[in-house]
Amino acid sequence: MSKTLRELREELSDELIKDILSQFNVEPRLETENYIVFPTCCHNLEGGSPKLYYYKNTKLFKCYTECNEMFDIFHLLIKMYHLRGKEITLHDAVRICNCDDTQDIDYSRSEVEDYKYMLELSGTVTADALPELKHYDSSILNRYSFDLNGFKPWLEEGISIEQIQKFGIKYDPIQNCIVIPNYDINGNLIGVRGRFLDADAPAKYAPLWFGNQCLSYPTSRCFYGLRENKEAILKKHTVVIVEGEKSVLKYGGFYKDNIALATLGKNISASHIAILLKLNVKRVILSYDADYETEKELEDKKVEYKKIANILTPYFETSILMDYDLQLNYKDSPLDNTKEYFEKLIKQRYKM
Ligand SMILES: [Zn+2]
Repeated sequence: MSKTLRELREELSDELIKDILSQFNVEPRLETENYIVFPTCCHNLEGGSPKLYYYKNTKLFKCYTECNEMFDIFHLLIKMYHLRGKEITLHDAVRICNCDDTQDIDYSRSEVEDYKYMLELSGTVTADALPELKHYDSSILNRYSFDLNGFKPWLEEGISIEQIQKFGIKYDPIQNCIVIPNYDINGNLIGVRGRFLDADAPAKYAPLWFGNQCLSYPTSRCFYGLRENKEAILKKHTVVIVEGEKSVLKYGGFYKDNIALATLGKNISASHIAILLKLNVKRVILSYDADYETEKELEDKKVEYKKIANILTPYFETSILMDYDLQLNYKDSPLDNTKEYFEKLIKQRYKM
């Protein structure tokens, strides 16, 4: 018998949830018969207010501030790792919870059902019904500079100065990091991430701070590149979904119509789907990193990527890029090689 995510989640004890979170130094602030209140750890690394509720009956969390959405422990873990600069998959999160994942779990199908269930519970029907993300005054970016020397690692990788300008990338000499602002579809600044360049930096990517405010944002509710690329997407009805910001910039270096969007990980949410539908997207090409070095690993990853693609197939014509010739370096994006090679991968893409 295959299990759904919901069944897996409903087997988890309240004690286990507390144990998992305490490994991140997140301790309950209040516990009643029906719920446990934690400091928010879903959108901020520290200093969260006690607004993250865990409901014992549904085994679901709800963040009442920034995220303003419902999620389970698995998706909370994805968010928490993301805040620490590490991307994990849903499968990884299930493993972290020590669940018996040896059984056949149909992730994609149960995820789609889960979205429906959670949207019903939270009383919202579409992502439009969610409150707007927090907006920051874009003048906070003025303290960073446009510094060709700071951008050097990216320029050496072939990212063009035009793209760096288009996406408003800056540099912070104090923290030695490339500053990556993210805007919503209307051009409001919703967060800022840094690519930390020091070899001993705790994370390669992490949200930046402004005073005592962490400029993070719920990545499940936005794409990187929306403000800059929405016109091209409206024109082409196609998006290329990539994992990181750099790949969005690289795509723009290859093609005049930049239709790449980054999910900053491999998570596809109901909000992502709602945004794509609003942009009248018909085709989605998943262009994930080559997290494989052998043919065997490639086949395993393909199974994993197909599960993610399954979330999209009810709405879009979906395909996946796989580097069958194993020419990409380990963990490189399909856009890290030449334009010709990217086009070869497009030609060979796996159609769902
Ligand atoms: Zn939150």
